[in-house]
Amino acid sequence: LTCLRIADLVLREAGEFFELCGSRGLEGTAMIAARADGVATRLVIPDQRARSGGGWVEVTNRGKLDLAAGLRSDEVYAARIHSHPGEAFHSPIDDANPALTYGGALSIVVPYFGLGLRRGLDACAVYVRTPSGWRELPPGPNRDKAVLPC
Ligand SMILES: [Zn+2]
Repeated sequence: LTCLRIADLVLREAGEFFELCGSRGLEGTAMIAARADGVATRLVIPDQRARSGGGWVEVTNRGKLDLAAGLRSDEVYAARIHSHPGEAFHSPIDDANPALTYGGALSIVVPYFGLGLRRGLDACAVYVRTPSGWRELPPGPNRDKAVLPC
């Protein structure tokens, strides 16, 4: 990827899914697929299970197959995106989650069971994968673009 741009449509779709999970007191998780040109236009929602009240969400084995099958030949997963009941931050569980490990991959945490996405990425915590682990990007509405400037 030379320049990642996450389409607003993808973030809206993620927000709707997370709010639906949140209406049952559950966190949600999904992956954002990007084409080789860096345009991220597709959200892939795997089979998952979560604990009521939040604090934990996990992709099931079936969900791992969903993710493998959900990627087209010209795409990569550019970002993991998941919701939290309250504040957006990377928990120790998130740090240990091996969903994406290549350099430049993004991890987006959405606050308030998805409601935060109504204000876009500005309300979220956004991390980029580096050789030494996840590094939080400074606040701002266009952090997906800031990672790999267009
Ligand atoms: Zn988390």
